[in-house]
Amino acid sequence: MDRPTIHTPQDLRNYPNFVGSIDPKIQPLSHIITGYYLNEEYPCGLKGCHQPHKEGYLVALEDGNVSNVGWKCGEAFGEKFAIEKTRYTDLILRPKAIQTIQEAIVKIHGLRQDLDNLATEADRLSQCKLGMRNYFPKLYKELDRRAHSGTDRVVEQIERTSKEIEDLQALSPGASRESFRYRDEPRGVLQGIRVLAGNFRDDVIIRLTGRATELQHINVTSLPTDKLLDWERWAQNFDDTVTQARATISAGNALFSLESFRLMTYIATVDTERAKLKTLTVATLLRSGSGDAQVVSVHPAKQSKRDRDSQKRLEATLQKARNKGR
Ligand SMILES: [Zn+2]
Repeated sequence: MDRPTIHTPQDLRNYPNFVGSIDPKIQPLSHIITGYYLNEEYPCGLKGCHQPHKEGYLVALEDGNVSNVGWKCGEAFGEKFAIEKTRYTDLILRPKAIQTIQEAIVKIHGLRQDLDNLATEADRLSQCKLGMRNYFPKLYKELDRRAHSGTDRVVEQIERTSKEIEDLQALSPGASRESFRYRDEPRGVLQGIRVLAGNFRDDVIIRLTGRATELQHINVTSLPTDKLLDWERWAQNFDDTVTQARATISAGNALFSLESFRLMTYIATVDTERAKLKTLTVATLLRSGSGDAQVVSVHPAKQSKRDRDSQKRLEATLQKARNKGR
């Protein structure tokens, strides 16, 4: 059973026999056609409400007209609305959601190895990031600033000779000597820098691979409707989430590479950091980033706290994602 797709107010207005105002007291409900989530608010069709809603039901009336009502507003139709809501949920909403989720489960099976690899890469890159922060604290601040502002071009400031400065001053009389002291020499583009503003584990494990694994252990048909709809939304976005996770990983690998380390020597402002960059390898970064993991293996008690914290973060993130979907 296919539901009509209603995404915009125009989709509502274009629906056959749609009217913008109805009176539930004299125009009884026939059935719910579909629930909808609009991209912008649109006034409720109920006379006496007409409040702008983003979400609600498209309803058919016994007189042949069609209109829209907010989630709760439909109660104005009385008991018939509760009956139709149950019918709609059990016969249309749930079967469609279950189908979408099961299609995603099939995709997950097909991508199992890819997903495992993405998760491993996310852990590895997360460790590189930690290593960068531990090993190059000053440089990391600058990289973080660039990540947030999207500044990926790297230039080297080269001091001009006295002759060059004099020539430039001759062209712009009145300008200070200091303003011509350096020139910017382009050195390259720091690929993948934006990824540093995000979190590898959130993008890949929490949003994608962790939930994919979770879904494989769930009995989908027995989920309550709200949970079912959460998973349906996740399943609908599955392909995009995979694409984004892959992009995050490949950006991370570009950022933590010998070519990027070379470019970072032009960004580093501390001599010791610049010197370390010249011989830096990804392996060194990984060792530097796994410092606390080694401590953990010596003290098993800390391991469980870390697991608890990461579990808490996972739950909080999932909850936030669910709330956002509503
Ligand atoms: Zn309303």
